[in-house]
Amino acid sequence: RSNGKLDRFVVIGGGISGLSSAFYLLKEAELRGRKALVTVVDPSERIGGKIDTLRKQGFVIEKGPDSFLARKTAIVDLAFDLGIQDELTGTNPAAKKTYILHRGKLHPMPPGLVLGVPTEIMPFAKTGLISWGGKLRALMDFVLPASKAEGDESVGEFLTRRVGPEVMERIAEPLLAGIYAGDLSKLSLQSTFPQFREAERRHGSLIRGTRANRRKGAAAPAAPNRLPKHLQNSMFLTFKNGLATMLEALTDALAGAESRFGLKAVAFRQNEPGDKQATAPYEVLMSDGEILEADGIVITAPAHDAADLLEPHIPVDALRAVNYVSVANVVMAFDKASFGMEFDGSGFVVPRSEGTTITACTWTSAKWLHSSPDDKVLLRCYVGRANDEEVVDLPDEDLKEAVRRDIRNVLGITAEPIFTEITRLHRSMPQYPVGHVQATAKLRAQLRSQLPGVWAAGAAFDGVGLPDCIRQGKESARIVYDAVMK
Ligand code: FAD
Repeated sequence: RSNGKLDRFVVIGGGISGLSSAFYLLKEAELRGRKALVTVVDPSERIGGKIDTLRKQGFVIEKGPDSFLARKTAIVDLAFDLGIQDELTGTNPAAKKTYILHRGKLHPMPPGLVLGVPTEIMPFAKTGLISWGGKLRALMDFVLPASKAEGDESVGEFLTRRVGPEVMERIAEPLLAGIYAGDLSKLSLQSTFPQFREAERRHGSLIRGTRANRRKGAAAPAAPNRLPKHLQNSMFLTFKNGLATMLEALTDALAGAESRFGLKAVAFRQNEPGDKQATAPYEVLMSDGEILEADGIVITAPAHDAADLLEPHIPVDALRAVNYVSVANVVMAFDKASFGMEFDGSGFVVPRSEGTTITACTWTSAKWLHSSPDDKVLLRCYVGRANDEEVVDLPDEDLKEAVRRDIRNVLGITAEPIFTEITRLHRSMPQYPVGHVQATAKLRAQLRSQLPGVWAAGAAFDGVGLPDCIRQGKESARIVYDAVMK
């Protein structure tokens, strides 16, 4: 198809999924002894999609994602592939504690909690977060039979079934919803925490199964062991100079690729196999009228944009079913001297029932030592979640005031910030609905059979975390290249 000359790829979306896909397409070409021309397109003028680091007055401020789970190896592998592994850093070991707000007071998260599931009975029995009735209900998990039903269910339904509504609402929901800003009663278990169902199935109990997984995990380092020793026990990692380090290294590595930033891919067309005029199987139409010829296309746009591109070719119900929640974060910098308190942990999360504006607060300067000068304090407050999104569009001053009211009430902080940065991320958090795994598998099967050489990947599909996006970018490079060489 490419006459052995030049394999042309268009990558739609310049977020981390698209950039990883472009990077690994060039690697695949090298491995296969081929020449590739990769073009990355994105309507934004800025590379990186959701990743957005602000370096200001000695602070490293993340306006989007701030770190990643160390045990998911695709991102550490990418750091090694880009030669930026020495830039990795872990969380401050002295700031391990996290808190949950309950009736206006901060309660330490009981030790042994794994993604909201208690695995140590004594600390759980002592916590003031849950009533005695709620604790007994949670321990019923040891005796309740495992469900025999096949297929997917919502995270909320599952947790309520296993550990009861109190643990679900007061502990699991604020913790897990922090990752998806979601409504757990609608979020697919299989697409988000399949290990929960697996624990129930194998051990007959969520607590027993999670405990067994934890023991297994404890025997292995949190971070992949190609990393230096001091990073191996950090559950989360990031880059000392912010996640933009990865974008800068990718930009360098993609120097040989082309880009169309500030432009949208509006449609693509499949040429008839016998069409003598056509010089490539696909043509991508850009918003400025340019046509990019392509042997392969990787679509990494959010679900609604990917659906617009794919709808003329295949059914896109799987993508239309993914709603996106809007969120915002308010970052405040303070002088340590006038701040008035010391942090002994990394922050707190807030159950819905507390009625605050903020959904969580990270004590960024305590959790990530690289983020702030020694004499300063950095706080990051989150607002917006499923069924509570209007707050994201409050005027700046109202939003600042609401957030400051919350931290005054919860932490007693009255100090004036040196500066405040507000970031609104509209429709940014994909909510995988129940049945998402099966629906995307079906969509991808259609892609394989009807649009060989076209693939769709990224946060809309198979994991929202940065490592999952990078893994998908890498997989898509191989899948698309295989199809092109067939
Ligand atoms: P995106 O970054 O959304 O990129 C998709 C790109 O496609 C966009 O740039 C868009 O402009 C472009 N596009 C859309 N339509 C078209 C078109 N027609 N043509 C061309 N381009 C198009 N994950 C973590 O692991 N750790 C965290 O700490 C973390 N925190 C987060 C905090 C927030 C506030 C948010 C919103 C997410 C967070 N995540 C975190 C999740 C993670 O950041 C995202 O899932 C990930 O960055 C998504 O990458 P992506 O490339 O798939 O999508």
